[in-house]
This record gives sequence, structure tokens and C-alpha cells, in this order.
Amino acid sequence: MTIEKTDTLVVGAGQAGVAMSEHLGKLGIPHIVVERDRIAERWRTGRWDSLRANGPAWHDRFPNLEFEIAPDDFATKDQCADYFEAYVKKFDMPVRTGVEVNKVERKAGQEGFIVETSAGTIEAKHIVAATGAFQTPVIPPIAPVDDSPLQIHSAAYRNPDQLPEGAVMVIGAGSSGAQIADELRRSGREVYLSVGAHDRPPRAYRDRDYCWWLGVLGLWDVPALEPDKEHLTISVSGAYGGKTVDFRALAHDGITLVGMTKAFKNGSVTFEDDLVGNVEYGDKNYLGVLDQADAYILKHGLDLPEDPEARVQLSDPECLSNPVLELDLKEAGVSSIIWATGYSQDFSWIKEDVLGENNKPKHSRGVSSEPGIYFLGLPWQSRRGSSFIWGVWHDAKYIADQIEIQRNYQAYRAPE
Ligand SMILES: Cc1cc2nc3c(=O)[nH]c(=O)nc-3n(C[C@H](O)[C@H](O)[C@H](O)COP(=O)(O)OP(=O)(O)OC[C@H]3O[C@@H](n4cnc5c(N)ncnc54)[C@H](O)[C@@H]3O)c2cc1C
Repeated sequence: MTIEKTDTLVVGAGQAGVAMSEHLGKLGIPHIVVERDRIAERWRTGRWDSLRANGPAWHDRFPNLEFEIAPDDFATKDQCADYFEAYVKKFDMPVRTGVEVNKVERKAGQEGFIVETSAGTIEAKHIVAATGAFQTPVIPPIAPVDDSPLQIHSAAYRNPDQLPEGAVMVIGAGSSGAQIADELRRSGREVYLSVGAHDRPPRAYRDRDYCWWLGVLGLWDVPALEPDKEHLTISVSGAYGGKTVDFRALAHDGITLVGMTKAFKNGSVTFEDDLVGNVEYGDKNYLGVLDQADAYILKHGLDLPEDPEARVQLSDPECLSNPVLELDLKEAGVSSIIWATGYSQDFSWIKEDVLGENNKPKHSRGVSSEPGIYFLGLPWQSRRGSSFIWGVWHDAKYIADQIEIQRNYQAYRAPE
């Protein structure tokens, strides 16, 4: 039996795999992209029904194709999936869907890798793991083990009708938790939202979206979070035309904010006494972006309208003045818990020494410590933007260059 051979095998055809294929194609590097489901499956079926991109269509896209919606609109999840499908078509990319990679192993004593897939074996000189930053839903060990309220991860949340009647506790107030809590409250639910430390940039300020501000201020390109900020999540939203996530406003709309969830015991849940500090931290981040934006406008003499409203802070709602520290779930009528507590990654299919501390890839800007293996789409792979649509395209370009550099070394032959 002959085994199919290629130079580079890209695993995953989400936005990372699609970007990778574009850059490999431009360099003329033979490659195959294999995807176990469909192109951009996570955008198609792995998100809640009403999800909109967090950035406007002019920003959350690749450079070589525009969305077919107004540039300032926020694409729906299906429009995002359609966009990446159209991208694959436009560049005639060699994507094979419905093919899962089960194992990648170095060829003993030889160049390259043996890749076992659900559709047979492929040999490749280079492997790009583009399987996503948001792969495996994480629920922390404090989750109650008894069966009283229904518990799901935000990855499994679709819409309010899916939940049993009653109040909902949403744990985690990053972009997912804040948006899901808002949607549930608008549908008439009683909602508790457990808020940890977070950044919450303004949606827009002085006639510019925050994506623009983060861009001109160089904040998308920050290479790493400061050490004491590693636990921080960012809370932004493209829902309802795009709005700043304002926890005071959510509370005035009827959501009960609580601090970080501490423990579940005997039908009750306890919270850290950190709500005020967490909300104030978010406010500081918000005001910090406004200050930086003002300074930028001044320095560059830009003619952008003043926006004093942006600095007006709503009054403290009752749940912030007197934070709830313990809640009896039955008494509060909580029938569901949604864990909006993030994701981890699974690279168990790579049978080489690529993982380090906490099972995270050992890499430098996506170039693995194992020659020939590359990662793409990791959180903070090279910068803040790395796991987002616009950022992954630039990281893919770098990885394609690195593969090309190695190919040139491999092609070298000493003169006779
Ligand atoms: C709720 C949510 C909202 C988001 N909103 C935005 C936003 O508005 N703007 C933005 O820029 N970013 C957003 N992101 C972040 C990021 O853009 C998305 O998570 C995006 O899907 C990541 O793309 P990716 O290609 O890196 O990974 P994925 O989309 O996860 O694609 C990886 C692909 O690999 C496939 N795969 C995995 N393992 C294998 C295997 N062994 N063999 C074959 N195929 C495999 C999967 O089926 C999948 O299709 C959001 C993330 C989440 C969770």
C-alpha cells in the first residue's frame, strides 16, 4: 500500500487552519488541511444561537476578504462560519473535512512524521496543530456533585428555552458569562452572575470602536500579560449592536452580581468577598483605556468628538453595596448553573515531547520545542491578538515563514 506524502499537514480547519493554508499556499509549500468536522465547525455549532462576533466586521476578519455585511456590524456566528468557508473557496485550499487526526509520531530515525487519521495514514515533514485555543470546556472542581440544579458549561448553552424554569446562576463574567447572563435576564429569568477579576474595555469611545483603540494604542500586540494579571478575563460584547459590558448596568437591569464562587455545601453556595474589588478593577481598566485614548488624540491632533457621557458612572446597585456572600440554591429558586469558566487544550494525539508545565505546549511564537511541530491559535501565542480572528492570520504568516526557512536548510546539499 502506498502512503500519501505531503510537506506540511495542518490539523484543524477553523480560522487558524484556514489562515495557515493561505500562507503556505502563497509560499508554494505543498500541504493538506484535515478537519474532523466541517470548516469553522466551532463557529457553526459550538456557540450559543445569538452569538455575534465581539469585534466589528471591518476588524474581526482576514485582510484578503471582507464580510458581506456593513463594516461596523457584528457578524453572527453563522456569518463567521460562512466567511471562513468562502475563504477556503476563494483560495482553493486543500481542505479535507470529516477526517480526524488520531496520532502524530516521528518516523524513527528518519525525517518527518507518520500521521494516523480516520481516513488512513499520511506522511508529513511538518505538522501544524491548529486545533484551537478553546477546545475542552473547563469546569472547576468546586462544582457540586449532587444532582439538584442542572449544570452545563457555556460551550453547551444555546438559548434560554433550553434551561428548566427557574433562576440561573452564571459562574464567570468574561465575554461568554456576561453575555449569557444578559440574554437570560432579558428573557425574564432571575439571574445570579459570579464576577471575578476582569478587564472591560469600552465598546466605543470618541467615535471609534475599542478594536480600533486597542490597535492604535498597540494593545493587541502586547506580548504577554503582566505576571499578576494572568488570571484576568476580558469582558466585551458584540450583541445588540455592540455595547460596553457594564456590570452596574446589568445589576440595574435585575441581575444579582456576586463575587467569585468559593464552595458548594449542603445546598448552599458561598462567594468570596471580592465583588466590589473586582468591579472596581474593571472600572479602572475601562477608565484607563479612555485616558490612553484621550492622550493619543491629543498627541496626534485627531479631530474626534468629545464623549463626556463615557465617564459617567451609574450608581452602585444594592448587590454591590451589600454583596451576597451565601445563597441557599433552593430558596433562591436556582434550577440551573452555567459554568462560563473557560477552556483548555488537548494535544494528546501528538506522541512527541511537546508539552511542558500544566500540559501546555512548549513553544516560542508557535514553534515547538520538537523540530517540525508547530502550534497555531494558542492564547497569547505571540501577542494578545493570537487566538482571535485578526491576530491568528499574522501568526500563521510567521509559522509559514519558519517552515519555509527549515525547508531551505533541508534542501541544502554540499557542492560536489
Ligand atoms: C464563545 C466564543 C466567542 C468568540 N468570539 C470571538 C470573536 O468575536 N472574535 C474573535 O476574533 N475571536 C472570538 N473567539 C475566539 C476564537 O476566534 C474562536 O475560538 C475560534 O473558533 C478559534 O479558531 P481556531 O481555528 O483557532 O480554533 P477552532 O475554531 O476551535 O478550530 C479548530 C478545529 O480543529 C478541529 N480539530 C480538533 N482536533 C482535531 C483532530 N484531532 N483532527 C482533525 N481536526 C481536529 C476542530 O474540529 C475545529 O474545527 C471566540 C471564542 C469563543 C469560545
